[in-house]
Amino acid sequence: MLPSEIAPNAATKEKEVPKQTNVQVAVRCRPPNSQEKASNQPLCITSDQDARSISAAYGAPGKKVNKNFNFDKVFGMYSTQGEVFKGIVQPIVQEVLEGFNCTIFAYGQTGTGKTHTMEGNIHDQEHAGIVPRAVRSIFEQLEAGDAEFTIRVSFLELYNEELQDLLVPNNGKAPETKLKLCEDAKKGGVVCQGLEEVTVINLKDILGILERGIQQRQTAATLCNKNSSRSHSIFTLKLNIREVNPQGEEVVRHGQLNLVDLAGSECVGRSGAKNDRAREAGSINQSLLTLGRVITALVDHHQHIPYRDSKLTRLLQDSLGGK
Ligand code: ADP
Repeated sequence: MLPSEIAPNAATKEKEVPKQTNVQVAVRCRPPNSQEKASNQPLCITSDQDARSISAAYGAPGKKVNKNFNFDKVFGMYSTQGEVFKGIVQPIVQEVLEGFNCTIFAYGQTGTGKTHTMEGNIHDQEHAGIVPRAVRSIFEQLEAGDAEFTIRVSFLELYNEELQDLLVPNNGKAPETKLKLCEDAKKGGVVCQGLEEVTVINLKDILGILERGIQQRQTAATLCNKNSSRSHSIFTLKLNIREVNPQGEEVVRHGQLNLVDLAGSECVGRSGAKNDRAREAGSINQSLLTLGRVITALVDHHQHIPYRDSKLTRLLQDSLGGK
């Protein structure tokens, strides 16, 4: 995966001066899998965590080209789930607790480690990914403080530009209702009509909900003959924190964290998809292309940001360019 595909200015080639931006790009290289090891091919990607760069060697023998890409953070193939969390997610969790809206996307081709990085093993603290670690950190910090708080979660799947609620039980059947996005006339912004938002009171509850959503995604994928690597999943936590400041005034903070496992970024041409699969791949690319354009427009401080061009960016509008 080359990050320049998604945000050309967020990953800069050597010597370019990055503009100031709220968008950060981190890359994690996964170790070779057994098939790759068995092929005995040399590794074409090398990472340098200290220099925050990745070097890609490609081309025919004798005509090899080396390209360097710089990132905000680089994690090598032996990096642990804990290091990834500490390096990129912990500071974002703190911003959410302060009342900001933040989004973390996992982007890359199918098989590059998006789900491993986002979910990991949710019941094993060492191998848990970003989502279970983020919810644990939020609960632990709020429970250790004096503030009153409520946490609501939702879990959505976006497939072929159609939204499905992963928290509404489908009892082993293909889901029937598709959710709609509409403008919220009262509060402004975009809301997902009919979306289940579950209030959670402890960590065990939230991990159970997460697990249910993951299972539902897999069941629906099997029942509808969908390939889950072609769908985006969006897990959202909404925090409402109420506390009294040193001046004796009541302060209320609303923070939101969106954790998004994007569909595989392989493009329709290269994937060789036909008919339905090609239409699917087109929709995936529609969301991914729009996301790339939105991030580029934000990074370049454009006046017009094309949020409305895909459901993914419309849904996340307030968290990408808002608070
Ligand atoms: P994606 O979601 O991008 O399609 P997965 O997360 O399913 O990819 O990862 C593909 C395979 O590679 C899985 O078997 C996963 O366990 C393994 N994998 C991915 N990243 C790592 C990593 N950093 N360390 C060890 N194994 C990994």
